[in-house]
Amino acid sequence: MASVREILDLMDSPSSEAIDLITRAYNFAAEAHQEHFRYSGEPYFVHLVETAKILAELGKGPITIAAGLLHDTIEDVCVTSKQIEERFGSEVLFLVEGVTKLGQLRYRGVERHIDSLRKLFIAMAEDIRVLIIKLADRLHNMRTLEHVPEAKRYRIALETLEIYAPLAYRLGMRKLTRELEDIAFSHVNPEKTDEIKRLVKQKNKENITNLQKFHKSLLKGLAAEGITNIHSDYRLKSLYSLFKKLERKENDIEKIYDLSALRVIVPSVADCYRILGVIHGAWRPLPGRIKDYIAFPKPNGYRGLHTTVFTGDGAVVEVQIRTKEMHREAEYGIASHLSYKQYALKRGQQSFSWLRMLLPSIVRFDRTPETLQKAENKTADAQAPRWVKELAEYHDQVENEEYMQHLKNDFFELRVFTFTPKGDVVDLPVESSPIDFAYAIHTDLGNHISGACVNGKFVALDTKLQNGDIVKIETKKSSRPNRKWLAFVKTGLAKKCIRSALDAEARSQSA
Ligand code: MN
Repeated sequence: MASVREILDLMDSPSSEAIDLITRAYNFAAEAHQEHFRYSGEPYFVHLVETAKILAELGKGPITIAAGLLHDTIEDVCVTSKQIEERFGSEVLFLVEGVTKLGQLRYRGVERHIDSLRKLFIAMAEDIRVLIIKLADRLHNMRTLEHVPEAKRYRIALETLEIYAPLAYRLGMRKLTRELEDIAFSHVNPEKTDEIKRLVKQKNKENITNLQKFHKSLLKGLAAEGITNIHSDYRLKSLYSLFKKLERKENDIEKIYDLSALRVIVPSVADCYRILGVIHGAWRPLPGRIKDYIAFPKPNGYRGLHTTVFTGDGAVVEVQIRTKEMHREAEYGIASHLSYKQYALKRGQQSFSWLRMLLPSIVRFDRTPETLQKAENKTADAQAPRWVKELAEYHDQVENEEYMQHLKNDFFELRVFTFTPKGDVVDLPVESSPIDFAYAIHTDLGNHISGACVNGKFVALDTKLQNGDIVKIETKKSSRPNRKWLAFVKTGLAKKCIRSALDAEARSQSA
């Protein structure tokens, strides 16, 4: 059986307190799950150690790892919350309870999808670590899914594909996303998986040969320029992302240029551009395939330079150039920032924009033409996305109480997250009304609001919205903003719109 060493060895120089906490959690879990086995016949404890190892690999701290070891104790073996708290403290308990709560969500197809996502979001919003533990738990469950009875397998795989993998992706945890997706996809759609595997088998072989050849001449070319301090390897496109791309490209594999890619990891941003220069100097790039995600990061924060070049012998090769830091970020996402210490960052104006990054489509309360413009041409925020910076602000003492307090104050006391009937999230200041909600979505919706339904019940327009409320706005053409609304609306946007509608009306009457 795995020893506690296996976990500790994956950590970056753990303190003696950390070792003590993890060892105690390890022993406690081993004892608690003694008579408990997995479908595979393995002791259940193996699952807990593997979950903890995934968390350690992600660079998580001792409290998160301890909670990972204990994450099934309350639900599965009747350990009480009190016992956990007495032995491991309230923060570990908080995380274990959070994971237990998330575990109670069950995905039952499209209709429940939104509901589950909503609950998932609310639960995880309390602490991002809960979600990371749940993702580690799910990853190990997926790795051992073949042992689970067939009837359950499909549901778990589908849930992984539709809920967990997209969340991991939103968190920028690409490595974990890829593994979750590929395993899940092979269970959800085994025929398609086999088909794609067959399709790429020959292609990948050719590609790897091409890449290796190209790699050699690239290293030579770089050495000639005095560039030797690089690390390079190649990656094959994951099955599931290939499946999605094939769907977009009329199933024509010849139209997909990034089946394989060479990755070049260099020390600095300047090196990235220098290497791109060397490559383009020696090989002709394919037009339209040069992507500067350093100057213009992807919405999920991904950074790097991509180019595709003709190798000269009929092949084309995609090259991705990044710094070590960008690479780590690209693979581990939010998890890497939570434990990364070398980010020196300024304070942003608004905290918890990382929450917004998680959401499929979000309507900002401060939606003005300028912010929309910004969101659209993304050039305004050329560096790392703000959420990364803000997370990193707290990096140093991620697991301390002050951080938790900050999180609670800032998040729970100042914001409410509400939903449209379609499941889109509308983020508002606390005590916002359905009128604020309506204006956050669209000015016309606010200007013609005639009523509101919250969680299926009609409510007054000055009702204070709560976290998780689903709000449906009723409109009438004849409805107009009322001066009285100004007394209770909370967002600047609503106030501004109401005033300008009232002014317009006054003007039209006097004219
Ligand atoms: Mn578990």
